Amino acid sequence: DPVASYMTFDEYGRPFIILREQAEKEQISGLEVIKSHILAAKAITSIMKSSLGPKSLDKAMVSPDGDLIITNDGATILGKMDVDHAIAKLLVELSECQDIGVGDGTTGVVVLAGALLEEVEQLIEKGIHPIRIADGFELAAHFCIKHLEFISEEIAVEKNREFLKYTAMTSLRSKVVSKCNDKFAEMAVDAVLKVSNMENNLVDLERIKLDGKPGGSLEDTMLVNGVIIDQPLCHPHMDKELLKAAIAVVSCGMEMPKPNQMKAYLELASVESYNETKEYEKEVYESMIKKLEEIGANFVVCQAGIDDPATHLLLQSNTGGVRYVSEKEIELISTASGAHVVARFSDLTPEKLGFVGSVREIGLGMDNRMTVFEDCINSSVVTILIRGGNSLIIEEAKRSLNDALSIVKNLVMENRIVYGGGSCELSCSIAISKEADKISSLEQYAFRAFADALESIPMVLAENCGYSPIHTVTEIKSRQIVENNPYLGIDCMQMGTSDMKKQQVIETFRGKKQQILLAMQVVKQILKIDEVRTTDKNYG
Ligand code: ADP
Repeated sequence: DPVASYMTFDEYGRPFIILREQAEKEQISGLEVIKSHILAAKAITSIMKSSLGPKSLDKAMVSPDGDLIITNDGATILGKMDVDHAIAKLLVELSECQDIGVGDGTTGVVVLAGALLEEVEQLIEKGIHPIRIADGFELAAHFCIKHLEFISEEIAVEKNREFLKYTAMTSLRSKVVSKCNDKFAEMAVDAVLKVSNMENNLVDLERIKLDGKPGGSLEDTMLVNGVIIDQPLCHPHMDKELLKAAIAVVSCGMEMPKPNQMKAYLELASVESYNETKEYEKEVYESMIKKLEEIGANFVVCQAGIDDPATHLLLQSNTGGVRYVSEKEIELISTASGAHVVARFSDLTPEKLGFVGSVREIGLGMDNRMTVFEDCINSSVVTILIRGGNSLIIEEAKRSLNDALSIVKNLVMENRIVYGGGSCELSCSIAISKEADKISSLEQYAFRAFADALESIPMVLAENCGYSPIHTVTEIKSRQIVENNPYLGIDCMQMGTSDMKKQQVIETFRGKKQQILLAMQVVKQILKIDEVRTTDKNYG
């Protein structure tokens, strides 16, 4: 075989290596390949099932070097899973794709793909050619999306803030933050609206900074309309709140070069020379203070340190200051306040100043103090400071919040919603089944199979709540038909109604549509691989 290695492109245009030419190669082909791939995929999807929905379970993942994360986020679970089977990797990518495109629904998309693959197994048993199945699924998916659009609703985002909130709540409900769902959803909406431009539906999530600080509880999490710096004011007697601050931002500090940093030492022979150096230091600090006064700054942000004598001088001149501010925070503060960062005090001019409505120091208990810059001139930077018992909770809360932020962003950009709890999947399933009756060709089977796969979403949701999946879904399905109500789904939270519209369990149309298309595409891709050459004897 002259081909050394063989590369193809998948449906997203990314390179994908199937063949590896090496001395001893194993070869399986035809239906065997597809069957073995389905087996591998099922192993993964069955792990993901228990993470779907508001009553789902978290996964603890331990990395080879012992780091622990606890999460319910599909993309994170798959991303951290140590998989080396090609098909498993495909599913990992599937989840990532959903994450990048939409930010939510990363578990659902994998569960749906798994359900489709299970259906494929049965169709192949019936003797239907994989390519026919693939084509049939594609038709079914497009039909499905048409129906989804039909049962979706358009909302006027500006007037319906609560819709944004309910959608964020639907996503947060299955996460570690579900206890303070309301508060987190509210913060997500506030944050996104702050960084949105309603006229052209643009949302810049980059301007939302998620910070975490262990200690306190999730309820203490706060949204700040500006930037938080993880440092206290440099002198405890400085004003704890300064209104209308004009701030100078410097990448240096107010300190003398330290001998130990210079790998040199200073020898002082007399008291006079000691006093002389002290005098010199004082002059240097005074010239810095004078500069600040000259340009009208009443607050200084330093990337490096501020020595004690300098803090006293700042205090005397009624100027506030923070020191040891990280480079990233320096950048944020300069974006938010409009300040230009300079490297030396002598470079400061009035034009380089930034302006913020207030600077205050907040205490988080146990000597933990931070400085908050709010109502900045460029007001569209916001920070969410997440509190929680330990860093694992904070990291998971960050992931959950990120999902919620993406969802709200999606809604601001495309204001179409569908109802969750498996209701829209069930409604699509019913519509596709009905359509299948009209098809006289073999595609009829693919349509039915697609409809059955969609049913797996409410099934899994019901199962994760401890209900009998078959009984629950059968009942809801017949009610959907009899009552002609596409909003009936699984009452996971036992609210006493299965109507997801009444329960306000909302998902974005964009996210749901993406789930269906991506799941269909990955299944098609698997169906089209009919030959694998590998040196891995355990393949399949
Ligand atoms: P994903 O990572 O795919 O978003 P989730 O674990 O967040 O997975 O679960 C999302 C599923 O849970 C969706 O089908 C959604 O409709 C459903 N869901 C969320 N909240 C509720 C609720 N209160 N009642 C019923 N279903 C819900």
